[in-house]
Amino acid sequence: MRGFRTGTGDAAMKSALREAVFLIKDIGNALAARIDGLSTVQAGELRFRCNICGRMARAEVSHLTREEPTCRCGSSVRLRSLVHLLTTALFGESLAIPDIPLRKDLTGVDMSGAATYAGRLARRLGYINTFLHQEPRLDILAPADQWLSQCDFVISSDVFEHVLPPVAAAFDNTLQLLKPGGVFVFTVPWIKTGPTVEHFPALHDYHLEQRGETRILVNRTVDGLRQEFNNPVFHGGEGQTLEMRVFSESGILGNLAEAGFCDIRIHGTACPTFGIIWQQPWSLPMTARRPGE
Ligand SMILES: [Zn+2]
Repeated sequence: MRGFRTGTGDAAMKSALREAVFLIKDIGNALAARIDGLSTVQAGELRFRCNICGRMARAEVSHLTREEPTCRCGSSVRLRSLVHLLTTALFGESLAIPDIPLRKDLTGVDMSGAATYAGRLARRLGYINTFLHQEPRLDILAPADQWLSQCDFVISSDVFEHVLPPVAAAFDNTLQLLKPGGVFVFTVPWIKTGPTVEHFPALHDYHLEQRGETRILVNRTVDGLRQEFNNPVFHGGEGQTLEMRVFSESGILGNLAEAGFCDIRIHGTACPTFGIIWQQPWSLPMTARRPGE
């Protein structure tokens, strides 16, 4: 306490006090978040801690849908569930990103992961966000050797419905990215019943044409057969967002099992603490593991 013996004692004292106040505020915020984190629903509104930005948020329960941004950071139930499932798999408990211990040794890749969590995860873990058309590149249909058996975790959220057929290759290659025992955190939109519906099972050499009001996907199969499909479905844009298929629950479970995954789980359990509530029994997130050695 050098300040007590100098002429600047008052200033030093004030500075120390100020720091103490900040520290107490920090602790208070953390405690408040923890206590509030028990989460409450009042008048149809859920108060929760966003596990991506770490701040408290509130949202009408009716707005807690899979895709709607329900925190200032832009996180949705789907994005928060990715963090919930990843941290639970890696650490045995659900952690908000600011509370993840610094573990750069835990390595994993994501496929076009959302910006709101990608940068934050990369500061805590050996997390690499990859892209199909920019560096760092990862084409799940032809992953470079550098990625194989390197990953403690792989995240793929709402990507596989856009991957070229046959989609089984994407599941096979994802398994190959993982170390034995590594975890795959996975989402796609899916329906409860029936098989996965492939829109263009023989897709090979294709392009899009506009004819009046109608958009046509023109395909030439491996055997040279010409096919046309009216008004293909796009998700939020052009190019890689062409919907190739509508997954079904049994279709995905079959894909994961056939690729060799074990410990395959569908996660519909709410985690209101982190603003995760599933209001329908379809399109839920899943996890699976590469078998250990
Ligand atoms: Zn947030």
